Amino acid sequence: MPELPEVETIARQLQQRASGNTVTSVTLHRADVVHGWPMPLCAALRNQKIEQIYRQGKRIRIQFSGDWTLVVHLGMTGRITIANPGQPLEPHTHLCISLSENRREMRFCDPRRFGAVWLIGHDESQDNLRHWIGRKLAAVGSDPLEISLDELAACLGRNRRIKPLLLDQQPISGIGNIYCDEVLHRARLHPLTPARQLGRGDVNRLRRAMRQVLSEAIAAGGSTISDYRTADNQQGNFQQKHRVYNRAGKKCKRCGQTIQRLLVAGRSTFLCTRCQPMQELAASAAGVNRSTGQSAVG
Ligand SMILES: [Zn+2]
Repeated sequence: MPELPEVETIARQLQQRASGNTVTSVTLHRADVVHGWPMPLCAALRNQKIEQIYRQGKRIRIQFSGDWTLVVHLGMTGRITIANPGQPLEPHTHLCISLSENRREMRFCDPRRFGAVWLIGHDESQDNLRHWIGRKLAAVGSDPLEISLDELAACLGRNRRIKPLLLDQQPISGIGNIYCDEVLHRARLHPLTPARQLGRGDVNRLRRAMRQVLSEAIAAGGSTISDYRTADNQQGNFQQKHRVYNRAGKKCKRCGQTIQRLLVAGRSTFLCTRCQPMQELAASAAGVNRSTGQSAVG
């Protein structure tokens, strides 16, 4: 699933290539991928200029000159690419937005359809839900690249373990399974550490690790494990730099210990138990089953 670095990569490329264009036409091949206001997309977006495209959490926001903004969530397998004229339509392309410059198209394709597109007003108001169609938009939490130390400390003061808390998209939005494991390894924190037991030094290390790992991943164009492609239809490169994710049985790049796999909150979790020891105090207080490494609560 695309996480913050992949979505940021796509949003930056779209901003460079599509922003400033005017929409000449909209073709919707599958109406049920669109949610939000019950206004036909073509009527809403035609002749509107694309003002700005940016990331918010794991979403892409495409802001138009008129009244509307499109919010795109890529789900598991979603892609937004810029296609040149005559480029064949990939299977499972649900939406094409034709651009004024060189007759290119911005295309949304999503084989598994966990992704979606929302047409909303700029203020994202969902007050008048009588007129809302389909899935609601969940609130977006703090951004891991911008969160302050105090804000992060406040987010972590909860009775949750650190990995499920970071995956939850509230109170922090953007980190999924891959980058959670990479960040926790970089911060030398066990994924089952109770969040509220982290000291100021731990929180500081976690914040630094989030910024470092996510920034490095953005610079590498994200991680391509299976489906992810950039807006230019290229693969990312950060998977080659993963230190723990999907590396069970291989050596830790920092200390040489064998990487292990656990199940945390139902998700495969990769860690180095030497770099990321479970502190004894934290373990006993949290009731962790140390033989399986599984927590009693999510
Ligand atoms: Zn290690």
